[in-house]
Amino acid sequence: LGRKLNAALSSLNRAPVVDEKVLDAILKEVCAALLESDVNVKLVASLRQKVKAKVKTVLEGGADKGKEGNRKSVVQKAVFDELVNLVDPGVEPYKPKKGQPNVIMAVGLQGNGKTTTCTKLAVYYQKRGFKSCIVCADTFRAGAFDQTRQSATKAKVAYFGSYTETDPVSIAAQGVTKFKKERFDVIIVDTSGRHKQESELFQEMVQIGEAVKPNMTVLVLDASIGQAAEAQSRAFKDSADFGAIIVTKMDGHAKGGGAISAVAATKTPIIFLGVGEHLHDLDRFSPQPFVSKLLGLGDIQGLMEHMHDMASQNPDKQKEMVKKLEEGKLSIRDWREQIQNVMSMGPISKIASMIPGLPQDLLAGSDEEGSLRMKRMIYITDSMTAEELDSDGSPFLEVGKDGKPIGLTWRIIRVAKGSGTSVREVEELLCQYRMMANMAKQAGGKNGWIQTMQKMQ
Ligand code: GDP
Ligand code: MG
Repeated sequence: LGRKLNAALSSLNRAPVVDEKVLDAILKEVCAALLESDVNVKLVASLRQKVKAKVKTVLEGGADKGKEGNRKSVVQKAVFDELVNLVDPGVEPYKPKKGQPNVIMAVGLQGNGKTTTCTKLAVYYQKRGFKSCIVCADTFRAGAFDQTRQSATKAKVAYFGSYTETDPVSIAAQGVTKFKKERFDVIIVDTSGRHKQESELFQEMVQIGEAVKPNMTVLVLDASIGQAAEAQSRAFKDSADFGAIIVTKMDGHAKGGGAISAVAATKTPIIFLGVGEHLHDLDRFSPQPFVSKLLGLGDIQGLMEHMHDMASQNPDKQKEMVKKLEEGKLSIRDWREQIQNVMSMGPISKIASMIPGLPQDLLAGSDEEGSLRMKRMIYITDSMTAEELDSDGSPFLEVGKDGKPIGLTWRIIRVAKGSGTSVREVEELLCQYRMMANMAKQAGGKNGWIQTMQKMQ
């Protein structure tokens, strides 16, 4: 999905002028990509209409007429915003607080990844200073407690369950009471799933819910269920009013769009994505960074977290970069530095997708191929003058006397020649930089998501 959406936006950047025809073509590509990944048809249709409505005035020639860069940004921002709306129900999920018990109950059909996710969650909160534990209230599936015991032991988190007790409600109540007494901060209750949505299952969930009074109930959804996610999440919502969703198996070939549009069906926020079978394969989900990454615009939040982790190595430098990111003032030189940082950090495939502006296809193929492509980006910037590097790219956006963009300016040709690359590659790099800079601007500032994210701890 990401690759296709990224391609659609790249074709926007390559178009010499943005008119209605170009917009239609791009929207067609965007919508096709969304439909292909199982996003609900109605949602896609409404997204298309909303983008068109937003962009209409600009295309008809408002204040921005003539400035292609601006018009492109408007289209890009409209697509971005509507994609964010798709995954953002505008509801704040529950946030565990320290110094009190926070009971989290996981529900969902069997095989969706509840037990795995419970352990991942316990590890996640444990790492952030919450004393965490797991209660196994799955008495339906043989071996359920063994699975919890093994994974909890591996993760070094406390657990509770029974081989003999057959009443899940009683086990859940016992476990939660015990852990509350022992002053655990995060108490995660894993429930049974069954294969189908049956009235027994829903009844059981209601009863466990009444017994443990969860602060937050989480629906665990498998990304691969596609369009069925909507009906499934609605059915669960009716009986176990969950306040958050975790979508698992986002690492596989699953299309994911179905599970993602379950958000719209139930007006419930996604809080994490499961991205693998290991304990740490859990990514926090927030709408803007997710969409940003999807569009190949990078994940500034992920990058910031990563930079904070690295800060110990070179505190001053990192602090400066974080500040610039927050202020939305990254020059081409700053951006190059980020790329170089990543190149020195080992396997790029994981980190590269977080760097704002790096194209998605950079991640295709092996890590070697990826770093080769990154090297070419560095060669290009090496051929820029100091003035160009310290700029926001504006020297490359020269316009002629008639106010029209010249396109192929002498600067681009010079840089392409100097770096042994092509005019097209230089233009692409500049487009990527421009997208990144726009994103950084949106992310920074008082109400930007960097601030919001930092408040979230
Ligand atoms: P439950 O029945 O809902 O408790 O599901 P489990 O936690 O037992 O998971 C079912 C299967 O899905 C197991 O083989 C897990 O390893 C696998 N699984 C869970 N989450 C993920 C994920 O995010 N990515 C991948 N690749 N596999 C997962
Ligand atoms: Mg299970």
